[in-house]
Amino acid sequence: MKKLIDQLYRDEFLNKEELKLLLESLEEDSRNYLYDLATKKAKQTFQNKIYVRGLIEFTNFCKNDCYYCGIRCSNLKADRYRLTKDEILECSDIGYDLGFRTYVLQGGEDLSYTDEDIADIVQSLKARHPQVAITLSIGERSREAYEKFKAAGADRYLLRHETINPVHYSRLHPENLTLENRIRCLDDLKDIGFQVGVGMMVGSPYQTVDNLVEDLMFIKEFEPHMVGIGPFLSHKDTPFAHMENGSFERTLDLIAIVRLLRPKTLIPATTALGTINPKGREAGILVGANVLMPNLSPTSVRKKYMLYDNKICTGDEAAECQKCLANRVSSIGYEIVVDPGHYPT
Ligand code: SAH
Repeated sequence: MKKLIDQLYRDEFLNKEELKLLLESLEEDSRNYLYDLATKKAKQTFQNKIYVRGLIEFTNFCKNDCYYCGIRCSNLKADRYRLTKDEILECSDIGYDLGFRTYVLQGGEDLSYTDEDIADIVQSLKARHPQVAITLSIGERSREAYEKFKAAGADRYLLRHETINPVHYSRLHPENLTLENRIRCLDDLKDIGFQVGVGMMVGSPYQTVDNLVEDLMFIKEFEPHMVGIGPFLSHKDTPFAHMENGSFERTLDLIAIVRLLRPKTLIPATTALGTINPKGREAGILVGANVLMPNLSPTSVRKKYMLYDNKICTGDEAAECQKCLANRVSSIGYEIVVDPGHYPT
């Protein structure tokens, strides 16, 4: 097994069979070896620096009905909210004072914000804080929309591919959502010049080892600037309420392998990872993650952006979150930096 891990570390190509063998045969020793090399790889580019992005969850209205997601449109129990442009700008001011130099505007697919509205929000954010990088994470829109967002000053776009297998995709989403359109969006975003983020949930219902291997091959080929990986966590008011959660350890395996496959990629230690294990985000950093995305949304709406049950950090003020994270990061020998954290050239 160590031979395969060494090959990955040296950036030698592993084929599907080899990646599958690796995923299927990891045990304590080889796993620790993988994690050590992934940490080493991350440090070669990023030293002990951790980038933070201020997450503004600005709407939990969503027209989509993804089977896994707590804010799916069929969940009538979700208490819906939208932030106004002024509220979003206020969040960004608080974040700026705390040292954030990049914001992620994330939301459900809420068409009450037109393409022009989103462009206007991006433009106003940029006018207010010219040095910051803006990331959008608002799902599938037209190429023209993405072009408008880019022209308004948006720098990055997060759109997890969720799974690259079309059959698996159709077991996670209703028929009107297709892998084909997902990929069309990702190709457009890249073509337009965004730094693009893909990603998947580990242990999502019906996922097989082969699916994960396919996801890894896709990540290698697509060359994303960011990869978001977290465990699937069930939400009580979704069709997947009784599905098993993803595995913590498996999620770490995938983060480590992605770090070796894509040495310079920005990889967050996700909130889902911190939810499944109290030291999950620290563990993620220790296997090669280099980004944290603390929440800047007003505390009054935090509990409403519930994609899965028991989500952490829904009560704290942004400043408290920032302090808590700084302590967590320094406890493992890393340091949060004031920096937009662009993909290294
Ligand atoms: N609507 C936007 C972003 C919101 S959801 C979009 O479609 O991109 C952001 C990510 O949260 C999703 O891509 C999904 O991978 C993850 N997510 C949603 N439900 C989840 C769950 N139950 N467990 C773990 N992650 C989940």
